[in-house]
Amino acid sequence: MENLRLSGGTLVTESQLIKADLLIENGLIKEIIDESQVTQGYKVIDCSNLYVSAGFIDIHQHGGGGADYMDGENDTYLKITEAHLKHGTTSVMPTLLSATKPALIKAVEGYLSAEKDDRIRANLLGLHLEGRYIAPSQAGAQKEDRISNFNSQEYSEIIEKANGRIKRWSVAPELLGAEEFANYANKNGIVLSIAHSDADFDTTLKAFDLGFKHVTHFYSCTSSIVRKNGFRIAGIVEATYYLDDMNVEIIADGCHLPHSLLKLIVKLKGVDNVSLITDAMRAAGENVTESYLGSLEDPLPVVIEDGVAKLLDKKAFGGSIATSDRLVKTMLNAGVDLVSAVKMLTVNPLKQMNLNVKRGKIEKGYFADLCVFDKDVNVKKVIVNGKIAY
Ligand SMILES: [Zn+2]
Repeated sequence: MENLRLSGGTLVTESQLIKADLLIENGLIKEIIDESQVTQGYKVIDCSNLYVSAGFIDIHQHGGGGADYMDGENDTYLKITEAHLKHGTTSVMPTLLSATKPALIKAVEGYLSAEKDDRIRANLLGLHLEGRYIAPSQAGAQKEDRISNFNSQEYSEIIEKANGRIKRWSVAPELLGAEEFANYANKNGIVLSIAHSDADFDTTLKAFDLGFKHVTHFYSCTSSIVRKNGFRIAGIVEATYYLDDMNVEIIADGCHLPHSLLKLIVKLKGVDNVSLITDAMRAAGENVTESYLGSLEDPLPVVIEDGVAKLLDKKAFGGSIATSDRLVKTMLNAGVDLVSAVKMLTVNPLKQMNLNVKRGKIEKGYFADLCVFDKDVNVKKVIVNGKIAY
């Protein structure tokens, strides 16, 4: 493996911008050094007028490059991770849509075999299951006949099959059996996340006490104030602002949330409690006008228009086609500074998913996962585990 020196760039660290060079040795970050310091035995990569940040970490991603993690084909993981790698995503949490038990078991097996596939260069951080224990009224683009109430026999079987690889499960905490599920997930080290839910304010507080410390794609399929016979009832959105330690992830593709809400979320929750996600479906990284959600066996057709996937009647979105670079661009356009935007896509996702890995930071001894981009966040180079991947 070649030792590298990234020279002349501006490093985007967890807390600041630093004009310095970076040495990479044996796949790890060796040192941050002054530009004037002389070194030998390093291949120099010119990063003049460019930024160097930790590689982006997408903890909610369904697909890209024409594939979806539910496809279960031999090249599925390769196609998706390569499509996103070009846009700076060096680590990913593959996300499985609501599906029947056999389909989920098959998808879990797909993850287990992808782990052994040397062709995959991005880091796989573990699985995220989205559904199928979600509220029919907030199902969004998840197919209604694929969702269900909690079923302990079913989820315990899936968790056992995954052998420790499920790191997060997004569910609706108001469904019957949520407490039992939460206890079981906690015991298995699975991060609980509120998703596709109509929980009211009090139910959200109760869920927080059960271990739900994260909200999946905040504002998308999450309840807010409703009126029942004139009386107002607050929902997940309000409870999330009320609870200081409730984290959120947001689809910062510039379509799902307007700049006004992005500003509000960052201001009220604080930079440290926000992660950026793509929630990308299979059309991400592709130049197509038609695509479909979910697996090849069970597709839901969508049109790609205005930079987002829409259901055929165009009344609702059916998923994002974003890549990580676009998330950073969107946040900059919303007035968030670069250091904060990058933190929301590197340090925060790992912390919120309880993933204790030496990634996501430009720090001595950390894995050299890096993204080099210009002032408009056009990705120029991507390094994974010390190797130039793009
Ligand atoms: Zn999703």
